[in-house]
Amino acid sequence: MSAKLYKNLIGGQWVPSRTGKTFLNINPADHSDIVGEFQSSAAEDVSDAVDAAREAFKTWRLVPAPKRAEILYRTGELLLQRKEQYAQEMTREMGKVLKETRGDVQEAVDTAFYMAGEGRRLFGQTTPSELPNKFAMSVRLPVGVIGMIAPWNFPMAIPSWKLFPALVCGNTCVIKPAEDTPLSTYNLVQTLMDAGLPPGVVNIVTGFGPDAGAPLVSHRDVRAVSFTGSSEVGRIIGQTAAANFKPCSLEMGGKNAMIVLEDANLDLALEGALWGAFGTTGQRCTATSRIIVHKSVAEKFIAKLVERASALKVGNGLDESVEMGPQVNQQQIETSMRYCEIAQHEGAKLVCGGSVLEDGTFDQGTFFEPTVFAGVKPEMRIAREEVFGPVVSVLECDSFEHAIEIANSIDYGLSTALYSRDVNRAFQAMRDLEAGITYINAPTIGAEVHLPFGGVKHTGNGHREGGTGALDFYTTWKSVYVDYSDR
Ligand code: NAP
Repeated sequence: MSAKLYKNLIGGQWVPSRTGKTFLNINPADHSDIVGEFQSSAAEDVSDAVDAAREAFKTWRLVPAPKRAEILYRTGELLLQRKEQYAQEMTREMGKVLKETRGDVQEAVDTAFYMAGEGRRLFGQTTPSELPNKFAMSVRLPVGVIGMIAPWNFPMAIPSWKLFPALVCGNTCVIKPAEDTPLSTYNLVQTLMDAGLPPGVVNIVTGFGPDAGAPLVSHRDVRAVSFTGSSEVGRIIGQTAAANFKPCSLEMGGKNAMIVLEDANLDLALEGALWGAFGTTGQRCTATSRIIVHKSVAEKFIAKLVERASALKVGNGLDESVEMGPQVNQQQIETSMRYCEIAQHEGAKLVCGGSVLEDGTFDQGTFFEPTVFAGVKPEMRIAREEVFGPVVSVLECDSFEHAIEIANSIDYGLSTALYSRDVNRAFQAMRDLEAGITYINAPTIGAEVHLPFGGVKHTGNGHREGGTGALDFYTTWKSVYVDYSDR
């Protein structure tokens, strides 16, 4: 059976790429299942999409923000109605289990409703003037055409974090989804259109990063770029944007630490560690990838973790009883494999997993065992570099202060967690951990859309998605002085 053909969305029309090339989107749990055929676009397609977005900006920016918000509200309602279908399709295209893909769609719903509210709150400022008979205020104006580049691990939630605030602020958009997960972005944008979004306000161009993403970043009519992905690609995008004096929001990798102190509720910490490390097959920017455990409870904690991790049911995420799906593609499997070799070479002790699953029910997909390393030292690469797979390292600490020192000793700074019953340590951790997010007695995952999301150091360049912080990136301030002295 031939796969359904999806085209680029440009100016409200579904059009083939001018390259004439396409690529296949394949289910990572079952390679015989072709999810769709998508356009392999290049600079000329990006240019058409930017032209359409620039044209649409002329009218979209004049639509009152509360009216723009109504479209987002309807989008949220439609997404709720379509949640199950979209979750199933997302599981087919990227592998994570249904419970999680339902959560991914729900996050887009929550973002739609939250940002719809912002349409009635797009506050500016009034400020006393230094002069008599003068009124001084600052208003938020849209930026223009925004270029958006998304990763594959949250294929509907992350595009919604970018599109919805951008739209409510009056911008128009060109989005390039990851080549592994274009369908979920299509579903999101189709829903926006069904909710009444005018043609050209959002445009989709699919294709590979260097071919379709790079020209979007450098296009002169793209006024700002919002990127989520690896720090490696983020560095390239950030440099190009900086060379063109273009605002650029970079949300990148993580190596997230969970600290388990001697007074922690170990059962609670264990649940958090399992879900944090192996949820989404470890392919979350916020995944728990370092567990820093007090030495007095380390042996007991590791034994329980190994017991639970090796009992996790791995398989096709469409099966409701499966707890961990496949990795998204062969390249990710190879990265997991490579880091397992590096870790053992460095002297870490493999206590669970460490291999590709390829026999029997696994032979049609890209599956990797839930993997735990013990005896990991802070200077090892497995403790410092992002694996982005179901591989977690356990490090031991002597004290709370030592744990904070280890947690902060890496280049990344996205999410952190502390398990302890001591409220003083909880607040000290909140203050001292170098990260955009700190959880107390909860794992490193589970962000809510109304709080700012992002990281420090090599994880981000200071912008935030979610919450009102997102509006700062998608608007530009204009100061206005009105002299009413009528001289
Ligand atoms: P990636 O390889 O950096 O790709 C991200 C996006 O950039 C994809 O759409 C990719 O296209 C595109 N791209 C690649 N090269 C490009 C170039 N030269 N110019 C323009 N665009 C280019 O990341 P990924 O593998 O999709 O996602 C995993 C990474 O994302 C992890 O590091 C994870 O931590 C990070 N992430 C961060 C956050 C956060 O909020 N901090 C959230 C989720 C994920 P193609 O892949 O389609 O070719």
